[in-house]
Amino acid sequence: MNIDSIKNGYVIDHISAGQGMKIYEYLKLGELDCSVAMIMNARSTKMGKKDIIKIDQKVKIDFDVLGYIDPNITINVIENDKKVKKFHPELKNELIDIVKCKNPRCITSVERGLKHICVLKDKESAKYRCKYCDSEV
Ligand SMILES: [Zn+2]
Repeated sequence: MNIDSIKNGYVIDHISAGQGMKIYEYLKLGELDCSVAMIMNARSTKMGKKDIIKIDQKVKIDFDVLGYIDPNITINVIENDKKVKKFHPELKNELIDIVKCKNPRCITSVERGLKHICVLKDKESAKYRCKYCDSEV
């Protein structure tokens, strides 16, 4: 895989330096059957340092989970060597099995196999709360 260019796929840009691995895990990129390149501490005039992830295939990815991590991330869609679309992740109203409630008395901590559901409470600050116990996550 050529790190500099991809023919068809995605470039996830403007990731805060150090967040790249987290995003890799959230998007479950390790489970994809295509090349994924992670560029860490890339120079950015806007941010100083940033991480970039390149995915070498147009696979179905739910990028909106990234809104929880950082809504300023840019996702570039590449088709035939050209950037055809650029967007920021939306904040989802519900995150299912993405973040876990940290309240030890929450039913999700007690009962195994229960889905971890967090609900968006404040769009401005991107704050989510556990659907079961209302703890901030
Ligand atoms: Zn909870």
